[in-house]
Amino acid sequence: MTNTDTADVEATVAQVAALARAGSELVRITVDRAEAAAAVPHIRDRLLARGVDTPLIGDFHYNGHTLLAEYPACAEALAKYRINPGNVGFKDKRDRQFSAIIDIALRHGKAVRIGVNWGSLDQDLLTRLMDENAKAPEPKDARAVMHEALVQSALLSAERANELGLGPDRIVLSAKVSAVQDLVAVYAMLAARSHLALHLGLTEAGMGSKGIVASSAALAVLLQQGIGDTIRVSLTPEPGGDRTLEVKVAQELLQSMGFRSFVPLVAACPGCGRTTSTTFQELARDIQDFIQVSMPDWKRRYPGVETMTVAVMGCIVNGPGESKHADIGISLPGTGEAPAAPVFIDGKKSVTLRGATVAADFKVMVIDYIERRFGQSAIGRDAAE
Ligand code: SF4
Repeated sequence: MTNTDTADVEATVAQVAALARAGSELVRITVDRAEAAAAVPHIRDRLLARGVDTPLIGDFHYNGHTLLAEYPACAEALAKYRINPGNVGFKDKRDRQFSAIIDIALRHGKAVRIGVNWGSLDQDLLTRLMDENAKAPEPKDARAVMHEALVQSALLSAERANELGLGPDRIVLSAKVSAVQDLVAVYAMLAARSHLALHLGLTEAGMGSKGIVASSAALAVLLQQGIGDTIRVSLTPEPGGDRTLEVKVAQELLQSMGFRSFVPLVAACPGCGRTTSTTFQELARDIQDFIQVSMPDWKRRYPGVETMTVAVMGCIVNGPGESKHADIGISLPGTGEAPAAPVFIDGKKSVTLRGATVAADFKVMVIDYIERRFGQSAIGRDAAE
């Protein structure tokens, strides 16, 4: 999701393009006021002119019904509307405003994500469930009632959208909370009670490693159970930080679990007292950065390169073994070892690199390997075989 002011077309186009370039397959933008709604079709057009056709999702709260009605070009430009049942409207207005949004989605042939959030849960529903629970012979704890309220809020809204004519193939559900165990519990309930597509995400996950670890822990448990159709990793960026980190983490999560491949994986040992110099860390980082920077071009030129594995290891203990498992791997010399770095390709020792240019030589070998295995000549050769 972008964090630019959507009314700022230039900034939003730049950020959506950066997210798409990083690999985001859907991008959500805030549509909070008339200026933002008016900007949406221009954002879409400018992105298309730059060759970016990543679907845009509009995030609406409180005034979605008005903005979508008054800015039909916005309603048309978006691929999906995200609405939060807790923020669609209050009291008697809620049903009317919810219906208005669903009507617009139907008219424009769009999908709707019903995105419940812990922080803005439908208070009427929660109060009703709390009251019922208090009168029950064996009351549940407040947390369990909150889980039930989140799930019911999503399911009741989906049911209503369906009654209004929106088919199940156009409805996505989410129920985001900020604690890992709550998220796992709520989505397990949603998956058990609905066949609709589910969007996963731990909300307010936090900054840096805390946000990454918490999101990965929660999403991994659910994905492993086959729960979830789309994911978002919500990270609070450092001031001036890179928004695309969210995309990178989401991709690495899916790839490390073996569900999708996005970039070649670099396996590197953590290093220890046997690691002689910083050469090993520098080479691992260098290869990782090189892959990251080259990937947009490689994706086009070398189909399948994202499945490749590279190993950069620090000594003989695990170096040769791990390198043999990779498509291409190098085992750098550890303390007391001869200053030689054997390189393994497709499980077999290929050469031994020596001297000051080991890092540069290995990088060249990686490029040669990619060209040979994934380049056009390789495709032509495979076709001829
Ligand atoms: S491969 Fe060698 S340098 Fe790397 S962690 Fe293992 S023992 Fe240490």
